[in-house]
Amino acid sequence: MPTTTLRTSTDDLAAACLARADGDPSHPTAAAVDALLARAWAWGASDVHVSPAPEVFVVRFRLDGVLTEVARLPRARLPLLVQRIKVLAGLLTYRTDCAQDGRVPADPTGGRGELRVSVVPTLHGEKAVLRLMGDAANGPRTLEALGWPDDALAALREAVAGRQGLVVFAGPAGAGKTTAIYAALRALVAEGRACASIEEPVEAALEGVDQTPVDRGAGLTFAAALRAILRHDPEVLFVGEVRDRETAAIAVEAGLTGHLVLTTAHAGSAAEAVARLLDLGVEPFALGSALRRVFAQRLVRRRCCDAGCERCRGTGFAGRLPLVEHLAVDGPLRAGVLAGRSAVELDATAREAGLVTLAARGQAAVDAGRTTAPELARALGAGA
Ligand SMILES: [Zn+2]
Repeated sequence: MPTTTLRTSTDDLAAACLARADGDPSHPTAAAVDALLARAWAWGASDVHVSPAPEVFVVRFRLDGVLTEVARLPRARLPLLVQRIKVLAGLLTYRTDCAQDGRVPADPTGGRGELRVSVVPTLHGEKAVLRLMGDAANGPRTLEALGWPDDALAALREAVAGRQGLVVFAGPAGAGKTTAIYAALRALVAEGRACASIEEPVEAALEGVDQTPVDRGAGLTFAAALRAILRHDPEVLFVGEVRDRETAAIAVEAGLTGHLVLTTAHAGSAAEAVARLLDLGVEPFALGSALRRVFAQRLVRRRCCDAGCERCRGTGFAGRLPLVEHLAVDGPLRAGVLAGRSAVELDATAREAGLVTLAARGQAAVDAGRTTAPELARALGAGA
């Protein structure tokens, strides 16, 4: 992921952070962390990175999917700041030589989501990454709210209206796969369908969905959890990720025996996602019979203005635009899956059948001035 620097507001945050640190002599570091987090939530950041360097330490926010430097602070303040973060997350403050993961529960009064915290030792001191879980928890309640283009939305509606079969959502991390599936699950729960999920980790609590977190330490792998949950006979099942042969085989089998199975694949395109499942060793005949539809998604930053303004905090971008390509697995394409064809061959077949690729959709968005060519290259280059 590339890093950008905000053209405005940077010194402003450092000043706010330091002013508050100096202004409250009883808890200066606590006040500085509060200031950072308040700013991160207010700006809609998904992650906060606190990274040590030889002379300073750098604070970056992930804004609209891109790491953006927001402050450089004196190096001497880093240990206390990281210490404060570790206290909040219930980590061992006296251990600075090992990686630690923890969480800060959602503040029930502040209305903010949970924080997932990871601390790792580096050459220049401990680095902390805080993930702000508000987005998934407050994600779209309806399929319309995903902002997908009309044709993709219609395909998604049709896919989740089905009573059985496998529907795959492809894309790199942060491309909006889970957001789309969560929106689908919320819609399916509202229709009264029995929904269950297996996730690693569970990103947000979904009302009405029986969510099981994978726990490898306890032997609860995707495959083991999937087998157990199928005995509860859910109508709709979300399998967080299929990345081994056993899980893939059970998910496909479930899709063939009266369950609607939604899953994700770390793949750059819809055709690549199908090939990935075949590569895992799923029987082409079973996959060709179970697979209904494949979506591949990217989020590109939406163009705001050329010179940078208050609204986009000088970045030129505000909000994100989903690009979605989708494949109905039927006709020649189904024949291709049944024959176990490669990603390149499946892609060619899909294009002949009228597939509008992510690249083509992105180019149309550039032509319409909704995003920029470098931003499109960034988003497509981040492919699986
Ligand atoms: Zn602007």
